[in-house]
Amino acid sequence: MVPFVDAHCHVSGQGQIEDERETRRCVMSNFSGDWATLKGLDGVEKCFGIHPWYSHLYSVHQCDKRSHYESVLEWRVSEEFEQLLAQLPAPIALDEYIEQDFEESQIAVVGEIGLDKLFRLPENGFYVQNSGARLSRVKVKMAHQIEVFRRMCQLACKYRKPVSLHGVKCHGVLFEQCIQELLPTKEVKVCLHSYTGSFQTLTDSWLRKFPQSRIFLSLSQYINFKTDETGLELVKAIPRSCLLTETDFPIDTQPADQLRAQLQHICEKISQACDLDGLESCKTLIYDNYLRFIA
Ligand SMILES: [Zn+2]
Repeated sequence: MVPFVDAHCHVSGQGQIEDERETRRCVMSNFSGDWATLKGLDGVEKCFGIHPWYSHLYSVHQCDKRSHYESVLEWRVSEEFEQLLAQLPAPIALDEYIEQDFEESQIAVVGEIGLDKLFRLPENGFYVQNSGARLSRVKVKMAHQIEVFRRMCQLACKYRKPVSLHGVKCHGVLFEQCIQELLPTKEVKVCLHSYTGSFQTLTDSWLRKFPQSRIFLSLSQYINFKTDETGLELVKAIPRSCLLTETDFPIDTQPADQLRAQLQHICEKISQACDLDGLESCKTLIYDNYLRFIA
């Protein structure tokens, strides 16, 4: 039987991972904490990344803790910065992290990586699933996000690994960076996960510059199919060979059957939009695409 594909999901480190044979899973790591949970796991594709929500925890230039956070964060009220600084851990040198933890043979994809213009730091310093921490008004400078992102793109190019990309409210900048860093290495494939940019950026930029064999869009129920109308419209703008499905949920806190139901929902919508011959044909299409993405 052809499996469902979850081309972009997560681990929280807070629960148990159910044995799931009906779904092929590509599990992201957002920072070193996720990678510690993920690296011992069998039966999934493992991904190595630094999500923009965690980029401030990594230093590109060597310096002490205070100077690091002063140079990568932006704030208006210095009290807020001082409170955060007290919560934040000592930064990890990015190159050392890569050198120690990146194992070429173990890693299928470089992800999750990307850029996020809306992101604000939670008051506890970094995002923790279900922590309930309130958001501060402190942000990570785009220049620092870009530096970390470029370093991760260079890693993907060096080892010819595909990437899974996060972009929020800065689709033009993200695209420009990918043109510079990823496009020249023709073996590197790109997956835009839960794409929220405009149709114009998609068709006039991404789909025009990247060959169809190198670009994928993985669609989620909770972002791309908030309404059927926008979801179906997006599917129709994407070449069939570029479609993937995802949940973007942690696989250790969500029951496997609920995650599968989301993937099935997206497949049914894709079938409808592309006029496919039912669920099984859609699963076959997505699975074939997925095998090319991770090849
Ligand atoms: Zn994600």
